[in-house]
Amino acid sequence: MINGLGSLYGLVSMATCVVMTTASAGDKSWLFHRCMWDCNKQACRDETKISKGFRQFNHDETEFQSTQPWYMQWLQWSCKDDCDYHCMWHTVEELRHDNNPVPQFHGKWPFVRFYGMQEPASVLFSILNGLPHIYMIHKIRQTVSPKSPMYNVWHMYAMVGINTWFWSAVFHARDKPFTELMDYCCAFSSVVFSFCTLWLRILGTENRLMAGSVATVFLSLYVYHVRFLVQGRIDYSYNMKVNVATGLLTSACWLTWCFRRRREQPYVWKAAIVSIAVVLLLSLELGEFPPYMWIFDAHSLWHAGTVWLPFLWYSFVIDDCHYLMNQQNKQLKVTETSGDTGDVNDGVDDDVDDMHRSGVSSTSGDNNIWMGNSFNKSLYKMSRNKARVEARPH
Ligand SMILES: [Zn+2]
Repeated sequence: MINGLGSLYGLVSMATCVVMTTASAGDKSWLFHRCMWDCNKQACRDETKISKGFRQFNHDETEFQSTQPWYMQWLQWSCKDDCDYHCMWHTVEELRHDNNPVPQFHGKWPFVRFYGMQEPASVLFSILNGLPHIYMIHKIRQTVSPKSPMYNVWHMYAMVGINTWFWSAVFHARDKPFTELMDYCCAFSSVVFSFCTLWLRILGTENRLMAGSVATVFLSLYVYHVRFLVQGRIDYSYNMKVNVATGLLTSACWLTWCFRRRREQPYVWKAAIVSIAVVLLLSLELGEFPPYMWIFDAHSLWHAGTVWLPFLWYSFVIDDCHYLMNQQNKQLKVTETSGDTGDVNDGVDDDVDDMHRSGVSSTSGDNNIWMGNSFNKSLYKMSRNKARVEARPH
């Protein structure tokens, strides 16, 4: 996300998914294959009892699932999935017994499942990453005027973030092809929308044609890429390159914007910190070690490390919304003062009053290039009215 939350989450999500569907040393091992063959034959196809802790299953998945706890049924654990899980631990135990290193399986370290969730720590931290979006957008609604130029954009940003983390939690709970696809698509939506948000902030949202054009460009980019994800085979390498390139570009652009606006808008340090922090935390993803207590791996720690970032980011958002409103107010004040020509300017004053009623309060601010176009139109309209009045023969 850089801002970073979306975009960088996307990067890491992609990085994880890249390895997910590839074969690993664990699932390629003879121990694992032998176990799976036995389990599939005996547990999933035969009704004979199995030793070594496997329960008695048969080929009927419905009947198998009916023997499972509700959470296992709800998360759609099939007999084969269950074999995969038990054989993974069987292989790990055998290898550790012979002092061999713990391998990965299907691109993942072995995790202890919790209530059917495959990566419980990542599920928890994904939820914790999503909740701040809900909390902070609520705070924005309490403290920011709906007339603020970026008000709706940040709402959409929060929606995208919530949706992304929801599917992240679902994916980490169960890595099915559908949940994997949704995680890919939603992670990329955060990457793209973060970049889109930056340009909407720079170019303004008051000119609907301009804002619509920007949104269309990024939506096209998103659809173009998602098309590859949905179509049959996914080019993981290409997918990751696109996400990394888009995310890093977004980060660089936000940091550049922050640097250039640091004097006029001192609060941009918050956005800069978030952008930098996400990149630094990303290094956690480089860690390759078996999960601590078979629960916490590098990826889950990355998710844990980003939980605080939305609070700082939305704090920046609130400050920025206030800043934009102040800019509007200052321009209004200047125009109001210079346009005070008595009764003949009643129409002008009415325009100003309308804008004040719409939620603008009188505050000071610096002149800047981020003025909304609709606001400029109002100023233009007022100036034009004034010119007409002055040109009228007395
Ligand atoms: Zn994840």
